[in-house]
Formats: sequence, C-alpha cells, structure tokens
Amino acid sequence: TAAAAADAEDPIIPSVKVDYTKLLINGQFVDAASEKTFPTLDPRTGDVIAHVAEGDAEDVNRAVAAARKAFDEGPWPKMTAYERSRVLFRFADLIEKHNDDLAALETWDNGKPFEQSAKIEIPMLARFFRYYAGYADKIHGLTVPADGQYHVQTLHEPIGVAGQIIPWNFPLLMFAWKVAPALACGNTIVLKTAEQTPLSALYAAQLLHEAGLPPGALNVVSGFGPTAGAAVASHMDIDKVAFTGSTATGKIVLELAAKSNLKTVTLELGGKSPFIVCEDADVDKAVELAHFALFFNQGQCCCAGSRTFVHERVYDEFVEKAKARAARRVVGDPFKGGIEQGPQIDSDQFEKILKYIDYGIKGGATLETGGERFGSKGYYIQPTVFSNVKDDMRIAKDEIFGPVQTVLKYKELDEVIKRANNSRYGLAAGVFTQNIDTANTLTRALRVGSVWINCFDVFDASIPFGGYKMSGNGREKGIYGLKNYLQVKAVVTPLKNPAW
Ligand code: NAD
Repeated sequence: TAAAAADAEDPIIPSVKVDYTKLLINGQFVDAASEKTFPTLDPRTGDVIAHVAEGDAEDVNRAVAAARKAFDEGPWPKMTAYERSRVLFRFADLIEKHNDDLAALETWDNGKPFEQSAKIEIPMLARFFRYYAGYADKIHGLTVPADGQYHVQTLHEPIGVAGQIIPWNFPLLMFAWKVAPALACGNTIVLKTAEQTPLSALYAAQLLHEAGLPPGALNVVSGFGPTAGAAVASHMDIDKVAFTGSTATGKIVLELAAKSNLKTVTLELGGKSPFIVCEDADVDKAVELAHFALFFNQGQCCCAGSRTFVHERVYDEFVEKAKARAARRVVGDPFKGGIEQGPQIDSDQFEKILKYIDYGIKGGATLETGGERFGSKGYYIQPTVFSNVKDDMRIAKDEIFGPVQTVLKYKELDEVIKRANNSRYGLAAGVFTQNIDTANTLTRALRVGSVWINCFDVFDASIPFGGYKMSGNGREKGIYGLKNYLQVKAVVTPLKNPAW
C-alpha cells in the first residue's frame, strides 16, 4: 500500500542550511537572556531540526526597547515613505532570489508540500511585500469640511510599536500579513513566531535587513505562548497587538491587552466554515473544490471548508465521489514531487485530530474512508471523510484543524442558511452553484468575513480577510489591512481670513 511505501523510505534531507536560530533584536542575532533553547521538530519524523533560542519576558523587554527606540528616534518612521517602500521592494527581490531555501525551511519545519511552498507561498510572500511597498508612499489623510472657520485635516500616522503573534500553519504568509502593512505604515515591530515553526521567519527577517531595514524596526522573538507571547500582549510599551491563532488564545490576548495598557487588538481566529453545494451543482467539480477547501495544507487552515453541506438531490453521488477523491489523495514526504499532503504539524495536533475522528465514529457519523494514522512514523493522518454528520456532533461544531471532511445533508436554502450560520464562528464560506440568485441570497445571508463563490482560498494580497463573530475582529490584507497600523490625528487651524 501507499502507507507501507512511505514508511520504507527515509525522509529526504533538504539541502538548506539552518543558519539562523537566535533571537533577532536590534538588528543582531542574540541568545536568549536565560540562554535557554528549545528544539524545533521535523513533523515527518519527530526528529530535532535545530535548537532555537527560547525568548521569554526579558527578551521581549529587550526587543520592545529596541523597537521603541527605533520608533521614537528613527530612522524607520522618519525615513521618507519612498525610502521605506524601496526597502520593502528590495526585500521582495531577495525573497525571489532565496525562493527555494525559504521554501525548504518552510516545508521542513511545517510539513507542507515543498511544491506548495516553492510555487505558491514564497511567491505570495514576495507579492505581499510588493503590494504593501506600493502603499508606503500613498497613505493620505483627508481635508475635512468642518463647521466654523477652521482648516481641518487628518494625518494618518503609524501607531508605534506593534506586537505581532503568529501561528504555525502558514509561518511566512502570516509573517507577510503582519509585517508588510505594519512596516509600510512606518511602525516598528516585535514579532513572536509560533514555537512549532520558528525557522523561516528568522531567515526572512535577516533578508529584510539585507534589503536595508534599519536595526530595531523588526525584532523577532522565538518562544512559547504563555511566556513570550503573553509578554507581548501585556507589554506596557507596545501600542498595538495583532494575533492569529485559536479563539481560546485570542481571548487571553485581548484580556492581557485590556489589563495592561489597552493597546488596540486585532484578532484572526478559528472557524468552522460552511461549504455549500447547491442542487444544481456539477458534482465532479463540487467534489474537487470541496476537497481542496478542506484538505489544503493538511486541513490546517483557519478558513477550511470544514462543514460540507450538500443538497439532498446530489448528496449520495457527492459522498461516493468525495470518498473516492480523498482515498486517492497522495500522502507522503512533502519534499517528494506530486505529494498533496504531508504530516500534521506536531504530536498535539496529531492526537487531537485522531481524538476527533474517534468522536465522529462514536457519535454515529459514517466513516467513509481514512480514520487512522498514515504510516508509522511522524504525524501523518489518512485523508478522512465522514458522511451522515449531524449539526450537533462535535465534529460538526469544533475546529478539527486536520484532514477530516464532514458531509452534512440539507434540503432547503433557508434551512442551510440557518444551519450554516448556527456557529460561534464566522470566518468564511464556500458556495457552489451556477444560479446567480442562489449565490446572491447565500452571499448576503451568510454571517462570515469571506464568501468564495465557485472558488475557495483565494488569497490575493488585495482581498481583505477576517472574521465575523468569534472568528475575530479587524481585517487584514488589502487597503483595509492598513487601518490596523495607522492612527488618525485631527489637526485644526483657525482661518485668519474667513472670506477666503
Ligand atoms: P495558539 O492559538 O495557542 O497559538 C498561536 C500563537 O499564539 C502561537 O504563537 C502561540 O505561541 C501563541 N500563544 C499561545 N498561548 C499564548 C498566550 N497565553 N499569550 C500569548 N500568545 C500565546 O494555537 P495552537 O495551540 O498552536 O493551536 C491550537 C488550535 O488553534 C488549532 O488546533 C486550531 O484549531 C487553532 N489554530 C488556528 C489558527 C488560525 O490560523 N486561525 C492557526 C493555528 C492554530
């Protein structure tokens, strides 16, 4: 079988060298104050890739001091916007030059297919930085027609020191979503990467300095959530925090921000996004898109289409074909060509997903395919499909964050709208139909931040992304993403000669 074949092979060792494992503070790679390190693991085997400096509160203090100085004294926010934009453009060029090394580090630390890293994610990283580089010198205030004899204008200024806490599922894209707009607006940054995936951000941050970023503008602290992450969220000298991760941790971040200095908080959290296959669907196409919507990135997407609602008229055919498609999914060493699915990120997530598969079976859903680990080492899981899923089952309510598709049957449009919206989350939705009226109705009725009609996971830099309800607040990407990193200052001057 495919599983046995994967097992027999030794994992491919990438040629990239792991050069950067320390904390990046004030433009220098330094050890943690405690001199502690932690291992970052290869999800294909559980073996150690490298030992990385483990930052905690003291290191966050050092990083914030550097970011504060770089903000208050410059040069970053005091450089011309054009100069700042040129640094970001040069960085994008360097990303392209180092595409394969960045992709290899990303795959090694995270487990995602190398082809996905090299052909999609690293090019998107460059694209994001170019997108926001273009904005750096196009950030305008307004002239305001206020009552009375005043000249009124708004200045759009950087907020100051931004704290950014990112997850492990898209380490470099999350780096881009956070770092690119913050720098374009002239902020300085303390970035806390995820403990599972510290490597690629350090490499990228080094390239950013090579592109001309002055010391202190971007500081990167590797380390754990309750120590380094909490220190960022509660720091008195950080002006804003942006977080992506679980809803539970998002609540902690918001609380820490409130209890410290009321820094503004933007949150991009979990989801349980509906993917709705309407009665007019071309089933083969719907199956393929629904499969992508759920299984992409090992199912580790905040916006995964993880509740597949299928109209009763096409349900049986859909389930048969979805099962066959999942069974055909190519799982294996992500460094091999043609691999669709690598391992899950770590043993915690691996165990959590298997536990949810068990909930599915015990809860009475029908296990159509998969359901077990894949191979015998590392954190691989078989692509899994459940049918006959009911709304109140745990697998239909909670974020599984793994390769587990849950298929639910529906009859009426009003019914599926109610059921799709009956979630504490509201991140995204997929709609599959050729009927414009159905598409319009669903688009307006769904309480979610993104609706993809006959497509899914379209992440162009210009498209805003964020959640309704407990999926978070604020929007990242696009022109909306700038707002998170700008303050508005109203400036009022009396007019000397009102006649003019
Ligand atoms: P998490 O939310 O705990 O971790 C995300 C980031 O927050 C990491 O950098 C982590 O170190 C940091 N963090 C953790 N505790 C913190 C604290 N007390 N204060 C400040 N920062 C803290 O997520 P996880 O444990 O890696 O994964 C758990 C679940 O979260 C997953 O199963 C999935 O459902 C969800 N998740 C969602 C996303 C997303 O993109 N929305 C990404 C990763 C995980």
